[in-house]
Amino acid sequence: MHTYENFYINGQWQKPDGDDRIEVINPSTEEVCGVVPSGNAADVDAAVAAAKAAFVGWSQTSAQQRSEIISNLVDVLSANMQKIGELCAEELGTPIGLSTPVHGGLPVGVLTAFKEVPFEMEKEEQIGNSVVIKEPIGVCAFITPWNFPLHQIVAKVAPALAAGCTMVIKPSSDTPLTAYYFAELVDGLGLPPGIINVVTGPGRTVGEAMATHPDVDMVSITGSTEAGIRVAQLAAGSVKRVSQELGGKSACVVLEDANVAEVAGATAGGICMNSGQVCAALSRMIVPRSKQDEAVAAAKAVAESVVVGGAFEEGVGMGPVASQAQLDSVRAYIDQGIKEGATLVTGGTGKPDGRNAGYFVKPTIFSDVSNDMVIAQEEIFGPVLAIIPYDSEEEAVAIANDSIFGLSGAVHSADPERAKSVAKQIRTGQVSVNGGGFNPAAPFGGYKQSGNGRELGHHGLAEYIELKSLQL
Ligand code: NAD
Repeated sequence: MHTYENFYINGQWQKPDGDDRIEVINPSTEEVCGVVPSGNAADVDAAVAAAKAAFVGWSQTSAQQRSEIISNLVDVLSANMQKIGELCAEELGTPIGLSTPVHGGLPVGVLTAFKEVPFEMEKEEQIGNSVVIKEPIGVCAFITPWNFPLHQIVAKVAPALAAGCTMVIKPSSDTPLTAYYFAELVDGLGLPPGIINVVTGPGRTVGEAMATHPDVDMVSITGSTEAGIRVAQLAAGSVKRVSQELGGKSACVVLEDANVAEVAGATAGGICMNSGQVCAALSRMIVPRSKQDEAVAAAKAVAESVVVGGAFEEGVGMGPVASQAQLDSVRAYIDQGIKEGATLVTGGTGKPDGRNAGYFVKPTIFSDVSNDMVIAQEEIFGPVLAIIPYDSEEEAVAIANDSIFGLSGAVHSADPERAKSVAKQIRTGQVSVNGGGFNPAAPFGGYKQSGNGRELGHHGLAEYIELKSLQL
């Protein structure tokens, strides 16, 4: 049981204004595994005031100093990767064998890519009689989701530190324990107080207080498109910069010369990663109609081989989904797919055999999906794959792009140049070409309703910069 009584504000563990609490549920067992405070607008005021005061000195530090602090944070996260993996396994349900390298390791990779980024702040540009310099934007408000509890925090903290910004972080109420542990690790670094502050509480109160606060200069939210829109609307009242990393419905386009069975198997395995709760998940697989049966057979075999179980059980490939609400939502989408007339290849709404407690769902595959079905248009955020047949390459591209989202995608072809050419036609922020792997230093973000702005690597710095022209 993990119990936190206080928020991390101004370099101290500070008593909340009220008495409300959040109970954290272990999704593998449905038992309470932690308790943290649930804050209000007064707590946000205290955290923002600390961040504002800290900005005065922190914004004047040298790139060298900030680079050293980022390096120290890399070291401390690396040294505690195992503990981070265990916390995420406990509060999110990711199997421990995956949780440590992904939830512990990925933030280390992301942060490592930022070690040299502070030096970008010192680059000046001469334009005629002007010198253009970069300055940090100021106090940042970070609102993060539960699906990658530490990665989503570090993806914002890293560029903010690099730029010289100060920040208030509000993690999801479903996975706050990792954020509190992160605050403990930050506390051990001996930073000047107020640079990094952590408060918890509902989006509707704490999140909205952050988005409207007059002393917050920018707000960055990773979450659902609905929450991202609400935050942008609220932030508009005080003309804050808004960065949004939102939902997705990404397509894997399999061209007819690709190894369909291999790609289908990998895609079915991929949708089970983190129980499908991945914003960039390839949840639509677009296959040549003549090869749909081959794709279905391969995907089915892989999905049925995935061992579903508790995060700390031996040999488990997929854990539960994160919460009862998520379980209800995923099941409702599976029902919807059946009602819409898609073919249920494997899975369904029932729990895996022998599972009573825990938010477990079976890996589920639909074939003969038409792209106008709800299961092809809306983000399910669970282990549910829609296989959609096509008749021509143009149609495959059109289906991939027929989405309100534009976060990620994949293209497979025996001809790498052809795959690249099709990838360029997909209107998303990332496309994996023939299985190209995730790169924590490359820009990540969405077209269309998947968001605004980019995170990761030196491109991730842009959101945190104000440009100033000195006319000489
Ligand atoms: P969510 O939108 O319910 O919550 C995300 C965060 O926003 C939470 O901290 C929540 O408290 C806060 N929030 C909710 N309503 C708010 C409001 N009115 N004002 C201020 N804050 C508010 O999302 P979730 O269920 O935690 O996460 C899943 C979603 O996140 C999915 O849609 C997924 O695609 C998306 N996501 C996107 C990315 C990306 O990089 N594009 C990455 C991970 C997750």
